[in-house]
Amino acid sequence: MSGTQLHSQVVIIGAGLAGLACAKQLTQRGLSVVILDKAKGPGGRVSSKRTEDHSVDLGAQFFTVRTPEFRAQVDQWISEGKVKEWAPRMALAAPNTYSDSPDRHTRYVGSPKMGAIGHAAAQGLNIRPQSRVVEVAKNLTLETGEKVSFEQLVLACPADQTAELVDIELPAQAPCWSAWVDIDVEQPFDAAFVKDSPIGWVANDSSKPGRQSKQRWVMQATREWSQACLEETPEWAMQEMQKALREILPNAFEIGQSAIHRWRYARPWPNDEAMATSSVQFAHNIWVCGDYLNGGRVEGAWQSGYHTASHILATLEKP
Ligand SMILES: Cc1cc2nc3c(=O)[nH]c(=O)nc-3n(C[C@H](O)[C@H](O)[C@H](O)COP(=O)(O)OP(=O)(O)OC[C@H]3O[C@@H](n4cnc5c(N)ncnc54)[C@H](O)[C@@H]3O)c2cc1C
Repeated sequence: MSGTQLHSQVVIIGAGLAGLACAKQLTQRGLSVVILDKAKGPGGRVSSKRTEDHSVDLGAQFFTVRTPEFRAQVDQWISEGKVKEWAPRMALAAPNTYSDSPDRHTRYVGSPKMGAIGHAAAQGLNIRPQSRVVEVAKNLTLETGEKVSFEQLVLACPADQTAELVDIELPAQAPCWSAWVDIDVEQPFDAAFVKDSPIGWVANDSSKPGRQSKQRWVMQATREWSQACLEETPEWAMQEMQKALREILPNAFEIGQSAIHRWRYARPWPNDEAMATSSVQFAHNIWVCGDYLNGGRVEGAWQSGYHTASHILATLEKP
């Protein structure tokens, strides 16, 4: 296929929360916007894996709210029933020991799964799924060979994938092995930050609002362990993580169904500190945004997209 097939005033690559927040502001101001994403649905790392009986959150686990703009957006999602507060019994754990955590942050989750947030944020936007961009030049090229032309372009992909498309230096992103298991015994806490283990976080997914009532536990490996074991097989990683889980959950249990996912670009590496800006102007009409520019979290991603839209609007409004 050759020749330009599609044109849009603004093209955004990536339908994660950064791309969706950016698209929403621009669409509301009357610009024509299309979002291209290689995945089948919106949400990016705020997604849930379908299971035989329901689903499970294997990416973002929860989010917090610190800024007024994101507060307004979250309040809207709450009023639509897409987001609910989650108040887990929090613990601090290490192999063979745990204590209650004093942490009382207000945590939010998508309902009935994290993926609901991506769908809520995508409402009313023009998204083309299964459209992987393989080249950025004067026009974009999709892996099908189709060309897409634009007046303004926003790259809202993870840092490493952005750097594959344009020549830019960005912070590295760390991988994460993320797995779930069904167990048969209740535990004295719902979620824990974990030390001295391959696992850094465990949570009973079933304790989140709207989930099924089983004991479905999610465990996420630390950045260090995930990086060291990145090219191991999923079977091996699952076995090691199950071994670690048995040291963390106090009440002995049997494991039923389980599955594992390898995120190659999960969180910024080596730390979550925000950069000086949450939006980068790469060329006069090319912009870069994403969580890694703004703290590496759900709110940071959304804010990064929101601010990028403001910069684009300011540029377009200049006489
Ligand atoms: C395991 C894990 C646990 C996490 N836990 C938490 C948590 O508890 N709390 C929290 O706040 N945050 C958490 N995060 C981080 C949070 O999920 C991210 O910060 C946020 O979702 C990133 O949004 P984004 O829009 O910047 O990027 P993404 O969500 O990654 O969106 C980028 C999109 O770009 C698309 N894309 C990439 N390349 C191309 C291409 N060439 N062509 C077309 N499309 C492309 C991808 O398909 C993707 O949909 C976690 C992340 C992971 C992976």
